Amino acid sequence: MKYDFHSHSTFSDGTLTPTQLLQRAADQGVDVLALTDHDNIDGLAEARVVANDNGVLLINGVEISVHWGKHLLHIVGLGIDPDNTDLIECLTQAQSARSDRAQRMAKDLERHGIEGAYEGAREYCLQGNMSRTHFARFLLDKGYAKDMKQVFKRYLVNGKPGYVSCEWATLENAVARIKAAGGVAVVAHPARYKLTMSKMKSMLADFVDCGGEGIEVIGSGHNDNDIRITSALATEYGLLSSVGSDFHDPQNGRRELGRVAPLPEQCTPIWRHDALERIHSR
Ligand code: MN
Ligand code: MN
Ligand code: MN
Repeated sequence: MKYDFHSHSTFSDGTLTPTQLLQRAADQGVDVLALTDHDNIDGLAEARVVANDNGVLLINGVEISVHWGKHLLHIVGLGIDPDNTDLIECLTQAQSARSDRAQRMAKDLERHGIEGAYEGAREYCLQGNMSRTHFARFLLDKGYAKDMKQVFKRYLVNGKPGYVSCEWATLENAVARIKAAGGVAVVAHPARYKLTMSKMKSMLADFVDCGGEGIEVIGSGHNDNDIRITSALATEYGLLSSVGSDFHDPQNGRRELGRVAPLPEQCTPIWRHDALERIHSR
């Protein structure tokens, strides 16, 4: 079985529509795919139709941006009920925070001599919410940097033009909403936050305290060492282990749907969770 529990569509900062994404998943031989757009679940209905037609099992997912102290983390929710009003309320708040942030980002870029960023970024955002990635694509296209990596070095990050803070949900609140919607909360790509080991452990202790149950052991940007460390943390904190490509864009050859390393032996896979029970009967 080929699993992938983390992917994006045009309903956030992915470049494929849910239809194209599910077709690609089928082409790549993915058996189980979670669509996890940033703070948005509006692509799930379209994805479900194509998943059914192509023999892919779609897991309803979302990736919620949260504050934990002064850190910004991403929490993936899997197996959620997209009609749950608690969850929808949380996502609606995030969407309005994102749209407000996009306006302020454009103003800040304008102060630094870059005109028309809002309209420019908007063109890359087909549906759903504006994110930093849309601004990055605009800046790249206008020649302000040679690649995406350089865009995020020069712009849109803390202390650089176009960076503004944003009011996200708290870790506690996001996990509570995911659980209220019948889902399982998973820490996305833990190695990407550059937390010290003691911070990481204190974050995971808080995460477990508020009901979090999973961690991406195989996550985007994780090297072999990250996988070793994360799988040990999963065992220590009694967390289920998830795998996700964090696919956004077919142009990015480093991330492909379903292309994830195998979980280390000692891990208990996330697909054992009751919330994902539809997988078990397959
Ligand atoms: Mn993204
Ligand atoms: Mn993320
Ligand atoms: Mn993601």
